[in-house]
Amino acid sequence: MDNATDEIVYRLGATCGIEDVEEGKTYEARVQGFANFGTFVQLNDRVKGLVHKSNQKQDHRERDPIIVRVLSIRRNGNIDLEEVTPGIYRTQTVTTHIPPVRLTDLGQKIGRSVMVEGEIAQIKQTSGPTIFTIVDETGTENAAAFVEAGVRAYPEAMVGDIVGILGEVMKRNNQLQIEVASLSVLDEDDAARVRMRINDALDERAEPDDIPFLIESAVLERLRPEMRKIAKIIRKAVFTAQPIVLRHHADADGISAAVAVEAAVTGLMRESGADFDAENYLFKRAPSKAPFYEIEDVTRDLDYATKDNVRFGQKMPLILMMDNGSTEEDEPSYRMARVYDLPIVVVDHHHPDESVDRFLQAHVNPYHAGGDFGITAGMLGTEIARFIHPPVEDRIRHIPAVAGVGDRSEAPEREKYLALVAREYPEEHCKEIALALDYEQFWLRFNDGREIVKDILNLNNSYERHRNLVALLVQEANAAIDEQLRASMPHVTEQLLENGARLFALDVEIYAHRFTFPPPGKTSGEVHDRFCRKHAGNAVVTLGIGPDFAVIRSRGVLLNIPRMVRELREEIDGGGVNGGGHLVVGSIKFVEGMRDVVVARLIEKIGEYPLEP
Ligand code: MN
Repeated sequence: MDNATDEIVYRLGATCGIEDVEEGKTYEARVQGFANFGTFVQLNDRVKGLVHKSNQKQDHRERDPIIVRVLSIRRNGNIDLEEVTPGIYRTQTVTTHIPPVRLTDLGQKIGRSVMVEGEIAQIKQTSGPTIFTIVDETGTENAAAFVEAGVRAYPEAMVGDIVGILGEVMKRNNQLQIEVASLSVLDEDDAARVRMRINDALDERAEPDDIPFLIESAVLERLRPEMRKIAKIIRKAVFTAQPIVLRHHADADGISAAVAVEAAVTGLMRESGADFDAENYLFKRAPSKAPFYEIEDVTRDLDYATKDNVRFGQKMPLILMMDNGSTEEDEPSYRMARVYDLPIVVVDHHHPDESVDRFLQAHVNPYHAGGDFGITAGMLGTEIARFIHPPVEDRIRHIPAVAGVGDRSEAPEREKYLALVAREYPEEHCKEIALALDYEQFWLRFNDGREIVKDILNLNNSYERHRNLVALLVQEANAAIDEQLRASMPHVTEQLLENGARLFALDVEIYAHRFTFPPPGKTSGEVHDRFCRKHAGNAVVTLGIGPDFAVIRSRGVLLNIPRMVRELREEIDGGGVNGGGHLVVGSIKFVEGMRDVVVARLIEKIGEYPLEP
């Protein structure tokens, strides 16, 4: 109903002060308290006035809405009001004339009152104040609001709301904080305007600089747009205080990829004003035993994410998969994640199945660009880390070389990354770091071992500790491998396949120590390496056979393990076959009672694949 004769009742915006109030105008207010001479009312959190009892029309209770007309504003700031009861009226919001201060400029406003506008990214209730984490287009800062110790201030404000905050800028423990004087959720129109402004600016700010790669590589160049896309998604998550869960394969390559990105993300968090603890609760790195996203993993991630969402008012996380995530085997977990609308991005070099892409916001994979697994996750991860936060480069330049030797890359990129750091990290030392990572991760199990792993990769500015730790771990790992192979090697059987390849098989269940390092996959790899050396120039396939699984290592045969797994699954009724991995290195699972049937047919199939020319 738009009628020009209607009376206007003003609603004083949360950030308005007494200077925005005009004599003779009518305002919405709320009853604050009573005195024997009248009723105190609030026009907003900052502006209060008195309705003398002679000007009161009705009885009220505390917090009741009331409509008042301003009779006079005195020099001392007291406002005299009278209660009015208009018939038909329309409301109009008075907005403040104070321009909002950008969060990144707060450092220059210490001790002063400011207005800020932004999105609530997190609400944390402490035993004292309520801490709102606010994000605008320039940064993120905390705002502390206090009503009563341990009581939630402004319960109407929720995560994701756009708010206006008026308060004083303080420095506590060397960290900026706004002490909230008033906080209000902006109405729909204002919120939409601010949200659009923040989104547009953040979109631009999240765009990574188009820096050159550390090495020349045609495949990397073709992957550049998708790598920048993932870097942008990660930068935006950091800028909006969205938690990041980084899931990675628990081997040297996967760890390398993840640690490079971890260093970039934590660096960017610090730079953009997140509090010191953010790198712990807004970034989680979690190793996965399998080279895919197991139901057990996604269940754990969802459990934490939903609890943090309820308990600490955190946003739901971005899931970043590294050195895993690109195959059909990931799909059951992706379907779980989709129920909660978790965005997922993948950086992998396993042979991808196209069907996963409908679950992903972005997917970097050398197979999409004419490359193969020789461009390892650690190489991709390091280059993406540089897009995320360029200053991180000096600390992580050596990581692709470690990842390349760890995953036995044979791509030309491996040599280039090794050459880049040859003086500080000769190839032999890179191999030691990779072995130390594998060995330590075995004992870390599902833990990320953040600081220990950074020491192994020499990211902690303590070269001596790095050297000592790696030397010790390598010594222990090699002793354990020698011990294992002394027991296993005499039990390896050999046969010549139809295609001319030599097949070596070891029953890792009964001829290897269990539940210790090296685990079956690594044991099979070590056996394979020894036979490759012994039969240099020949095609060699090694099978490590367990009760219900087999690990496949090969050289010189053009295998396609994912395809063999699919065929065996079709052909052997009741075999319960599944698995996968890379084309020429992988594993296969089956039911124990069908082991002999499955393994026999698997060996036949291996013998049918052509040898490398
Ligand atoms: Mn890998």
